[in-house]
Amino acid sequence: MFIGGKWVAASGGATREILNPFDQSVVRAVDEADRTDALAAVAAARAAFDQGVWPSWTPQQRSELLHRTAEYLQRDRAEIARLETLDTGKTLVESGIDVDDVTAVFRYYAGQAEADSGRVVDAGDPKIRSRVVHEPVGVCALITPWNYPLLQASWKVAPALAAGNTMVLKPSEITPLTTVKMVELIEEAGAPAGVVNLVLGAGAAVGAPLVESPDVDLVSFTGGLSTGQMIMRTAADTVKNVALELGGKNPNIVFADADVETAIDHALTAVFFHAGQVCSAGTRLIVEDSLHDDFVAELVGRTGRIRLGNGLHEHTESGPLVSAEHRDKVESYVRLGVEEGAKLVAGGKRPDEPELRNGFFYRPTVFDDCTQDMRIVQEETFGPILTVERFTDEDRAVELGNHTDYGLAGAVWTRDAARAERVARRLRHGTVWINDFGPYLPQAEWGGFKRSGIGRELGQEGLAEYRQAKHIYENTAPVPQRWFAR
Ligand code: NAD
Repeated sequence: MFIGGKWVAASGGATREILNPFDQSVVRAVDEADRTDALAAVAAARAAFDQGVWPSWTPQQRSELLHRTAEYLQRDRAEIARLETLDTGKTLVESGIDVDDVTAVFRYYAGQAEADSGRVVDAGDPKIRSRVVHEPVGVCALITPWNYPLLQASWKVAPALAAGNTMVLKPSEITPLTTVKMVELIEEAGAPAGVVNLVLGAGAAVGAPLVESPDVDLVSFTGGLSTGQMIMRTAADTVKNVALELGGKNPNIVFADADVETAIDHALTAVFFHAGQVCSAGTRLIVEDSLHDDFVAELVGRTGRIRLGNGLHEHTESGPLVSAEHRDKVESYVRLGVEEGAKLVAGGKRPDEPELRNGFFYRPTVFDDCTQDMRIVQEETFGPILTVERFTDEDRAVELGNHTDYGLAGAVWTRDAARAERVARRLRHGTVWINDFGPYLPQAEWGGFKRSGIGRELGQEGLAEYRQAKHIYENTAPVPQRWFAR
């Protein structure tokens, strides 16, 4: 762990073994912090924000720090990608894409660090000089999940640094390795002591004290809905800024006039990429009735041919789930889907191949004949499970697409541009793709409508989360007001 500019062991001496989900081998043992370490990290971040050299760094210096970090991420790309694959099970290609995306995020916010010089406000009186400047929020607790460990950390760390905050970063306890590496690179890039602190450990023992601490000014959390709700409640006690990136139950709507071959291809990656462990996974296929039978038949055929395996091997198309507990959860959702009357048409079991026996694998699964109120359609399974619903007209497609408490992302496939635009505008989701599924840009805001979250990451708003406005009002010719008698 990294506290106050020093690499330290957990004060209680505890460690945790990080498992490779492909074969349960131990990748590395890491320190396991407790409340004492979490509070020490907060104290270090507080001191670096209130004193030290960091507050005097110019936006240009912060920008250069981010650029150097980006450069080192690319220098160590192969090592980082391998580590992410060992830690999460995802394929090496995916991990490499993650490192490139993370680099782009650091570069984007390096550019943004220098972009803001506040604005002058016309007070309507020549004696008054009024302006709004933006300042850092303070000490930020950044709490991240296991599915995209490095990527999710970068969406928080880069803008938080660009805006001049200090921070305590707490990655998921089951996938901390690339976050450790990223902090090493930020240290190498020259961040002053105490600006970036890293604590490793479980949510209740290490995350909760960060959220409770009166010395933390902002919590940015990415993870599950129930954890997010708990964090928001706790943060109320100290009136912290809260940014939440939570789950999704994302519709992928296909009209009969779509480019069907491309739509099938994308429907597969939408849901089965990274074994479905993606907050924006297209888990709800909503397909026009007239296209349904052919589309689903082809999709099911291809689902059955997805090659599971070791993420380090070139021919692997999908890796395992992240842990035994998570696979149990996915399996329980498959049982639930069957009980609810959904028609299991692909997968629904662990793979038979002996070489996959020690990994947390689960076959990509498709449920047809689903209805909108089934729990399998409404709840985030976070695994390789696709549900299929049908519609006959545009209104119904939109109604189904919006029939969820979540609102993270969705897609519409059609060759009718006017319809694509209408549906995109009517979907209550933070990102909508037209004839595509999955891409995001560092320059464009990412986040959830409804219960998918509060606030935005990436883009200008992703930086605004880490800044607060201050109005400076200067009277250049003050005179007594004589409001009260002398
Ligand atoms: P999780 O909520 O279990 O854990 C996320 C993080 O919170 C971990 O670091 C965990 O240790 C910590 N935590 C747990 N309890 C805590 C507490 N009481 N106080 C403070 N911190 C606590 O989520 P997960 O299982 O790691 O990740 C999967 C979830 O993340 C899914 O729901 C997924 O949709 C969501 N996610 C969302 C996005 C997005 O952009 N919206 C991106 C990735 C993942």
